[in-house]
Amino acid sequence: MAQKIAKSRIKKLLEILRNTYPGVKTALGHRNPLELLIATILSAQCTDERVNQVTKTLFQKLRTAKDFVEVPLSDLEEMVRPTGFYRNKAKSIRACCQALLERHSGKVPDNMEALLQLPGIGRKTANVLLGSAFGIPGIVVDTHVKRVSQRIGLTRESDPVKIEFDLMALIPKKDWIDFSHQMIWHGRALCKARKPNCPACPLRELCDYGRETT
Ligand code: SF4
Repeated sequence: MAQKIAKSRIKKLLEILRNTYPGVKTALGHRNPLELLIATILSAQCTDERVNQVTKTLFQKLRTAKDFVEVPLSDLEEMVRPTGFYRNKAKSIRACCQALLERHSGKVPDNMEALLQLPGIGRKTANVLLGSAFGIPGIVVDTHVKRVSQRIGLTRESDPVKIEFDLMALIPKKDWIDFSHQMIWHGRALCKARKPNCPACPLRELCDYGRETT
């Protein structure tokens, strides 16, 4: 169940995030929804920098869902190898592109229902795509958003889907896309998994964890 949190606290939180991380977007390089879909699959257990290095060349060679289905699997594996778990990732990309060809004429659909029907696509990836490729509001709950939300006290849940619904109840819909990016950047910059830098954090006064460690 969503936490009861004063609207004024949420307003202040959003204001600080906006001022601290102005204009932040996904760090995954892409020129269209298909490229973002593939980059997101490759980003599992891998840094965005590494993914971008790989996709720079990959997206020059392969441009359409058909290209990804027709390239020999061993070639695709070799191309995505530096991102780790390359056999599974190549298989996932292939299965997803095959489904895109069969069901959507090779295009990435722009709604949650259809995205969730694609092999290997969960709510997190679907929300990444909706927000960053189509500008459709969604909250991305990745490892950073999960951790930071829990520490601040925006949710008591640990299941990402329950956290997503808690956050949707608290955060105005118009802010969902930016809020997701800002929380991801905050998790990377200050609220790190092992040791959050609370003394330097502008959210400290609004954060349950930060206040406890004062
Ligand atoms: S005060 Fe500490 S725990 Fe809270 S958001 Fe900032 S870095 Fe994270």
